[in-house]
Amino acid sequence: MSNKGVSLYVHIPYCRRKCRYCDFASFAGRGDTAQAYAKRVVDELLQYKDEGLTARTVFFGGGTPSEVDTDVIKTIVNGIKESFVWAPVEATIECNPCSATLQKLTEYRAMGFDRVSIGVQSFDEAVLKTIGRVHDSREAMDCIKNARLAGFKNVSIDLMFSIPGQTAEMLTESAELAAELGVDHVSVYSLILEEGTPLTEAVDRGELETVGEDEDRLMYGSVCELLAKKGYKRYEVSNFAKDGFESKHNMAYWQRLDYIGVGSAAHSCYMEERYSNPVTIEGYISSDKVGRHAEDRVSLTDTDILEETVMLGLRTAAGVNVKRLTEKLSDKGQARLTDVINKLVNECLLSCDGDVIRATDKGLDVLNRVILEIVSAF
Ligand code: SF4
Repeated sequence: MSNKGVSLYVHIPYCRRKCRYCDFASFAGRGDTAQAYAKRVVDELLQYKDEGLTARTVFFGGGTPSEVDTDVIKTIVNGIKESFVWAPVEATIECNPCSATLQKLTEYRAMGFDRVSIGVQSFDEAVLKTIGRVHDSREAMDCIKNARLAGFKNVSIDLMFSIPGQTAEMLTESAELAAELGVDHVSVYSLILEEGTPLTEAVDRGELETVGEDEDRLMYGSVCELLAKKGYKRYEVSNFAKDGFESKHNMAYWQRLDYIGVGSAAHSCYMEERYSNPVTIEGYISSDKVGRHAEDRVSLTDTDILEETVMLGLRTAAGVNVKRLTEKLSDKGQARLTDVINKLVNECLLSCDGDVIRATDKGLDVLNRVILEIVSAF
């Protein structure tokens, strides 16, 4: 028995209706399969039972976990308790304002969840309509209040920007309202126009105008400024939290700690091996090539690990410890890395504090380039 801590992600692939921008592995109108799905997830969890792992963080995401009956969630929570030591320092459940009733939220608290992440996206009705969310802004506000009534002391919301028709003011107004409502954590994502989604098709037909790169940066800058003023620290490019409310689960991803994903389309990185599950609900339920039996298992090389350490770490305010990189490099590699870091520091794209490098604000704007230059030194 190792008693090793891991982060556990559970994918719940059900949604009431597909949002217009969504190409995630989620499905509408398939609730009839939810019980069978939960049983399959419990089976998958059993693969880890003999390893004596502790679920250090737990995250139920999707899809929409609040869309399914609470007994589906309960079955899976019990499955986790059967196969892992249930001792999470943070247990999050994602909710949609249209389905997360006070009753459901209260039941989640009783099951042991202590953090709720609500897919608000915007408090602006026109914006919500453009992206085809099921809920309106009143339901989003009620959901935040109900989460508090249910006893959640840690409430996070998602906001989106660069949505056709949205202005920087509309975005900051939503962020301001979130702060007024007292949420503890805000994730802010730029809309990605994925091929084949109704939103992209509307843009292609000329019905909607995309937000340009300059406007996108302006929106991001304004929301960063507003949230900083309201006491939220940016601890990762897209994530802002009041002190002590940084997501421990997500930090585990960015620090490259072991994580196990269960359910359809879930990815794992466990003991320096990556693997993933079938994407469809039926494929997942019927396949025996799931979890540790997945066909796509890949062992990570030292170079993969170095690249991931840089790619993930530089997104965070904690940065990257250069010693962790140089340990795995030849003398020549170390010299190359030092040269690249010095060059990026001179360009004000990186700051260097002892052994730790961090992307500056300027560096965050061109993060892909910064990462590429560093990894080319490996
Ligand atoms: S709620 Fe989330 S997962 Fe479901 S359709 Fe909308 S964006 Fe996709």
